Amino acid sequence: MTHEPLVDGHGRLITDLRVSVTDLCNLRCHYCMVPDTVEWLPRDEILRHEEIVELVQVFVGLGVREIRLTGGEPLVRKGFVGLAGRIAGIPGIDDLSVTTNGVLLERDGPALIAAGIRRVNVSLDALSPERFAQVTGRDRLAQVLRGLEVLRDTPGRGRIKVNAVGLRGVTEPELPAFVALARAQPYQVRFIENMPLGANRSWTRDDVLTGEEIRGLIHAIAPLQPVEREAHATARVYRFADGRGEVGFINPVSEPFCDDCNRIRLTADGRLRTCLFSLHETDLRGPLRAGAGRDELAAIIRDAVWRKELKHRVGDPGFRQPARTMSRIGG
Ligand code: SAM
Ligand code: SF4
Repeated sequence: MTHEPLVDGHGRLITDLRVSVTDLCNLRCHYCMVPDTVEWLPRDEILRHEEIVELVQVFVGLGVREIRLTGGEPLVRKGFVGLAGRIAGIPGIDDLSVTTNGVLLERDGPALIAAGIRRVNVSLDALSPERFAQVTGRDRLAQVLRGLEVLRDTPGRGRIKVNAVGLRGVTEPELPAFVALARAQPYQVRFIENMPLGANRSWTRDDVLTGEEIRGLIHAIAPLQPVEREAHATARVYRFADGRGEVGFINPVSEPFCDDCNRIRLTADGRLRTCLFSLHETDLRGPLRAGAGRDELAAIIRDAVWRKELKHRVGDPGFRQPARTMSRIGG
């Protein structure tokens, strides 16, 4: 295998891979999928554990150093902890993390840390049971909060990030509770701008509750100071002026960070996506199942990555939303 770095046609070095292990989910967040109309992928189209491990090895051979396991909800995949452990055993990965809605963390959190997952991002859009159920379609807040506590108390765990999608009318009244959480617990709470990736296609730019708006509202509750940005970081991080706690803002709509994007994505059915908003994807499952070796797969990946999109066009006239919803892409 070659050891040339994996670069795209715009000169960006690709080192970060998001791997979706399932399109299934135990929640129904309305900005991510549309309840009742979700069609799950046929089982035989989903990559098997050994296929995921094989492809991750090829990516790592190409210079990928950060792997994030996601979905759908990764913890609903059968045998996920074992799969995470196999991936953790691949030499060359510097950073292995999981993004989860937290519903099953009480059950799996300690086993995931024992399997070698160091960092866990927990998605949590509301801290009141009513708004949580309104957003996710399920009454599971207490379970998620218990899961977070179990994770917090697990020896060996790394930094815990709590991610909330900014939703106008939902997020604003939740901010005092999020501020209290960020100040009382060792969690970095981050707010993500809502992107047009839901199935109902009702997104408009004007509806987006921007990171700046949320930051202003938080600053009025407890003053914030900026923390210097790390390279490739998607979040702008602020600490509370009195030093207790941090919050971050991920602003892909109002302040796109495509210029130094180092990320690509593998879907649960084995497609390579070079941007969240790609309209084109590259099949890796077909060649893999047809017996392609690592060099052949690496060549397909290099070619696809070379054509990585310069930037997303969200909010531009003529923007086309990808056919896949976020739950099928893997966020
Ligand atoms: N089920 C897991 C979870 O919720 O953390 C992992 C998959 S989920 C697709 C990954 C992340 O994408 C979550 O933090 C979710 O809030 C975020 N997400 C989903 N749809 C989004 C959208 N339309 N705009 C912004 N973030 C979105
Ligand atoms: Fe499921 Fe995560 Fe999408 Fe919510 S954001 S529906 S938890 S995949």
